[in-house]
Amino acid sequence: MAKPKIATAWLAGCAGCHMSFLDIDEAIIEVAKLVEITASPITDFKEFPAVDVGIVEGAVNTTDNVEVVHKLRHACKILMAWGDCACFGGIPTMRNMFDKNELLRRAFVETESTAKGRIPSSDELPRLLDQCKPVHNVVKVDCFVPGCPPSAKAIHYALVELLNGRIPVLPAEMMKFD
Ligand code: SF4
Repeated sequence: MAKPKIATAWLAGCAGCHMSFLDIDEAIIEVAKLVEITASPITDFKEFPAVDVGIVEGAVNTTDNVEVVHKLRHACKILMAWGDCACFGGIPTMRNMFDKNELLRRAFVETESTAKGRIPSSDELPRLLDQCKPVHNVVKVDCFVPGCPPSAKAIHYALVELLNGRIPVLPAEMMKFD
């Protein structure tokens, strides 16, 4: 029987959630036996094929993030949000307290270490959204694995639940990082 396929995407996040996935240690061998990991920052394949489970790390912060999360939603049957940034917006949404043009000016022009800075501008660059958002504000999310990052145990639990045909609901003790 063909293995279920998963794909993962990295939006506005620090990669810590993907690192936590790699941190499941030897259980990753068990997971690798059970699923086929397709497009992912781990494999570096860029295009999402049709998959059973899509997993997203990070908040939706740019036009590129919007495009990626729509593509993943379209490609997967079940979409899982990994980590506080994807589930709730997390740290990247701290920028919502400021006007985005003010932020760009601060980051690219006014920082003390910048000489002759300018705000990058090109049609090829993604644009900042007016507000950074959790993933469920942009596409439907089927299950949530919160934490910053979620523990390796929680990620493993959620994947195994999905592979057994259940939408994972994390027990309370897995909602915190040990
Ligand atoms: S939830 Fe935490 S670990 Fe995951 S991407 Fe956001 S900041 Fe990084």
